[in-house]
Amino acid sequence: MRVVTVIGARPQFIKAAVVSRAMSESFREINETIVHTGQHYDANMSDIFFDQLDIPRPQYNLGVGGGGHGQNTGRMLEKLEGLLVEERPDLVLVYGDTDSTLAGALTATKLHIPVAHIEAGLRSFNRRMPEEINRVLTDHVAELLFAPSLTARDNLIREGIKENTIHVVGDVMYDAALYYRERSRCPEKFERLGVEVGEFLLCTIHRAENTDNPVRMQGILSGLAVADLPVILPMHPRTKAKLTTMGLIIPGNVHVMEPVGYLEMVWLEMNSRLIATDSGGVQKEAYFHGKRCVTLRDETEWVELVDSGCNTLVGSDDTRIADAVNAPLQVELKEGLYGDGDSANRILKVLTSKRS
Ligand code: UDP
Repeated sequence: MRVVTVIGARPQFIKAAVVSRAMSESFREINETIVHTGQHYDANMSDIFFDQLDIPRPQYNLGVGGGGHGQNTGRMLEKLEGLLVEERPDLVLVYGDTDSTLAGALTATKLHIPVAHIEAGLRSFNRRMPEEINRVLTDHVAELLFAPSLTARDNLIREGIKENTIHVVGDVMYDAALYYRERSRCPEKFERLGVEVGEFLLCTIHRAENTDNPVRMQGILSGLAVADLPVILPMHPRTKAKLTTMGLIIPGNVHVMEPVGYLEMVWLEMNSRLIATDSGGVQKEAYFHGKRCVTLRDETEWVELVDSGCNTLVGSDDTRIADAVNAPLQVELKEGLYGDGDSANRILKVLTSKRS
């Protein structure tokens, strides 16, 4: 069975790492070709993940990155079409909700190549998010939808997607969290910060709804400024660029670093006191590593985390952020919200059984 995997952004490298490993360990009948669209291209947003996570080198790199949504998606469509016509795989595999996901799904569908979508059915119900548009459209052209949770499955069914195309398999990011936990390592820079292990707030910010809005960004920075704990903030290149343009000042208790590799990120998550983020992946990783999460958004796709009490949605309001991060709250983590850590094997069993 020949599969073309289309990936292009940091969270997709992490998700693809576990699925690619499962293919090479247990599903050797699958022959995978990896296409990197080039959406994320900085060494610390791309290469480091291939090195650290042993992801097979992409056979193709489309070199499409740095433009706006329209330009990037358009260029990906054009380049992917030629490539898929040549490769003629049995299936195209896409992950998550980026422009690379949509471009892969759309190109394959138009060429009548079946699409499998990993992390299907997630919804924020906020159509102003580019990710929401990408997810909805991808789900509606995919033939196989791998949902991480029952909520995700229900979202798909409500949109009229046929139940027999949906497979609830858990979350591949949980597979990754379990596998890489033992391999995690302290970022070199951490030692020099003078911050105690277990006594810091880990923060990430990169969603356009925050980074593109000076009022929201100022609210977040003001909330972090009064946190009782030092804050460690590995900063996404987009956030860095926007903060510079907006002329916003980073509070003194916030230690900014370059984006870290996944192994360092897992270490930071495991050794933080709590996490504040607008990332989808980091919200779940907080839960996987037993940490409370304060989410810097007005809604989340990962509603189970909020319902179970380990995630608090605070938006960008400084007082709400400060109250939430300074709350002495301990949480009881409900187990098993996103499967049992064997999601990649479940997905590949479905893929291979469809062929036989
Ligand atoms: N991550 C990382 N280094 C960082 C920040 C995040 O390896 O400096 C990882 C994080 O552990 C998670 C993934 O990147 O697995 C999340 O990606 P991101 O927040 O960019 O995207 P989202 O999950 O919001 O789509």
